[in-house]
Amino acid sequence: MKEIKILLDIDDIPKKWYNILPDLPEKLPPYLHPITKKPITPKDMEALFPKSLIEQEFSEKRYIDIPEEVLNAYIKVGRPTPLYRARKLEEYLNTPAKIYYKREDVSFTGSHKTNTAIAQAYYNKIEGIKTLATETGAGQWGSALSLACSMFDLECVVFMVRASYYQKPYRRVIMQLYGAKVYPSPSEITDFGRKILKENPNHPGSLGIAISEAIEFVIKNENAKYSLGSVLNHVLLHQTIIGQEVLKQLEIIDIVPDVMIGCVGGGSNFSGFIYPMLGKILRKEIDKKIRFIAVEPTSCPTLTKGEYKYDYGDTAGLTPLLKMYTLGHDFVPPPIHAGGLRYHGDAPSLCLLYNKGYIEARAYNQHEIFEAGKIFAKTEGIVPAPESCHAIKAVIDEALDAKKKNEEKIIVFNLSGHGLLDLKGYQDYLEGKLPK
Ligand SMILES: *Cc1c(COP(=O)(O)O)cnc(C)c1O
Repeated sequence: MKEIKILLDIDDIPKKWYNILPDLPEKLPPYLHPITKKPITPKDMEALFPKSLIEQEFSEKRYIDIPEEVLNAYIKVGRPTPLYRARKLEEYLNTPAKIYYKREDVSFTGSHKTNTAIAQAYYNKIEGIKTLATETGAGQWGSALSLACSMFDLECVVFMVRASYYQKPYRRVIMQLYGAKVYPSPSEITDFGRKILKENPNHPGSLGIAISEAIEFVIKNENAKYSLGSVLNHVLLHQTIIGQEVLKQLEIIDIVPDVMIGCVGGGSNFSGFIYPMLGKILRKEIDKKIRFIAVEPTSCPTLTKGEYKYDYGDTAGLTPLLKMYTLGHDFVPPPIHAGGLRYHGDAPSLCLLYNKGYIEARAYNQHEIFEAGKIFAKTEGIVPAPESCHAIKAVIDEALDAKKKNEEKIIVFNLSGHGLLDLKGYQDYLEGKLPK
């Protein structure tokens, strides 16, 4: 049969997450305490995270068992997800390249973020936590965590970047349907939020500020913990369910890709997608040269223009210092439609691998990415998230390059989410109103 979609049986869902830390070409630089600047210990993180997730954060074990309750929840929200062949896109581009995409848009909240939200809610629940607090930009992470909290009977408190809270209300409504409490950040309910509002009552907010508020909330409320949707090792670990499914699916059709592509905000979908394959390369189990391309917006060019150094994860400086490519913790990116890509830093392991040359990075502007999204919607029938459009733009460029060289290049990319709640961006694009 013509490859249309490559499916896995429910029983074939990977039963372990893959941890890249033991396979890294050198040891990950330690997280530093925000005040003492000494390497932090697992104990230092206990105010914010449950013990099991801290253990995963520092674990050197290559594989970590996925609890049965988590597997069941994964299956319920749509795992294993299909791998599609983009035949219509190939025809449209008239390219000899073969293009495949992993469909993380099919989960209930429309993105890959449920993969870690479910795991984090589960571990907090079994450690007796009652409330999870977090931040969200456009709302993909907040809606995934709200869903996961409702699945495991936890309370969810979300600090949502103020500009999105008012201008992009639909994901806020989803969070509220799942029973979450959602506050526009900066908010009146934390000291840090009140301080910022006093200086500027119309502050649009940022992810960095919302993280500071969520952390302050957790420190002041008993039985509450903090939950982060990207960047940290344990988040990337949970996302490797994606890449391990991809390995099995590629095995079924007996191909090894030439290029793997994904968009990068904090790095979780891209890492989760490529790490299982990259791990094979690091362990010298395959010797084919595979290129891994991380794609980001020109307005928040963390890998392509950032500096590799220690920086805070939030604006107030409450988080540990992480060694990463960063634009500075007080960087406030312009309000582009790909809200999920507006983070000043990136996951430390991804930054290390980029620094060592295992990964390439490139950046595109909003016009280019929405044009790519329109081509994808027209040819493949799926409206991609603006974040995912970044990956699609790189896929199109790689496929056109293959055409020029008459190469039968195999391209696999991660469709991190759908754009059905991001139509304002598409509307602005179609009406020519998109700021550069
Ligand atoms: C959040 C989000 C991203 C960016 O986050 P990463 O941690 O880099 O994956 C990308 N795509 C979608 C659809 C998202 O919701």
